Amino acid sequence: MDDKDLLDRLRVSGDPDLSSHDPSETFGWERDEAEAMFADELAELIELQEKLFAAKSASLLVVLQAMDAAGKDSTIRAVMSGLNPAGVDVQPFGVPTEEESGHDYLWRVHAHAPEDGYITVFNRSHYEDVLVVRVKSFAPEKVWKRRYEHIRNFEQMLVDEGTHVVKIFLNVSKDKQKERFEERLERPDKRWKFRAGDLDDRALWDEYMDAYTEAMQKTSTDDAPWYVVPADRKWARNVCIARILRHHLERIDPKYPEPDAEIDFDDITVT
Ligand code: ADP
Repeated sequence: MDDKDLLDRLRVSGDPDLSSHDPSETFGWERDEAEAMFADELAELIELQEKLFAAKSASLLVVLQAMDAAGKDSTIRAVMSGLNPAGVDVQPFGVPTEEESGHDYLWRVHAHAPEDGYITVFNRSHYEDVLVVRVKSFAPEKVWKRRYEHIRNFEQMLVDEGTHVVKIFLNVSKDKQKERFEERLERPDKRWKFRAGDLDDRALWDEYMDAYTEAMQKTSTDDAPWYVVPADRKWARNVCIARILRHHLERIDPKYPEPDAEIDFDDITVT
């Protein structure tokens, strides 16, 4: 499947229907093949990031959202490995602190938007303010409903000012989440990842899917698109994410800065 077909399948446009996105989709790839493809994709990403960092004229914001155990952390580890750490920032957003709650919900997020040359990954994001806040009724409907428009405008402003915005929903199945939770409960080295609240969120699965669907429908734009990435198989997920990032970095098309025209490079000897 070529890049365009894959991205067209993953990108959200119009009314998303999550039931038409299979979380265990492999796009016809075998595991070995996908791992080799991923290695090639990473090599391309490394070069593009190098140019982005050198050019310092644009930035990339990657918003990662998902249910628990969908693999946000392992995605970040896999896809960001190899990139120059000096140009990458990973920013998690948890339950707002007292100071954060005292401000508007975009305040804490805006402060971490990337500067020119950087790739920033939001591990959760301002979308929590139309997801968990809606599902758990932390704010009344009239408050979270109007946030879709704020978010569209906020992201458009970032885009207009030189930040490319990509939003990824890691689509894990309820069965796979169960399997991964059980592994976390069984394995002492994984127990730290398990929070009591994880099961409360799992019980609200359908409500979360409705909230994700509406959030993506209301905020997926040409300039700041959402992608639904199948997350049950990590090797297929990694290829999808790397391709999405490559596509957006290629759209930025960063170039190394021109060398100093005053210097005659062929005539210099370093002694
Ligand atoms: P993660 O699950 O992403 O690995 P944590 O275990 O720290 O990280 O969980 C973060 C928690 O913070 C999630 O349960 C999430 O719903 C919650 N959270 C994030 N943003 C908000 C918000 N704006 N309001 C309320 N809860 C939030």
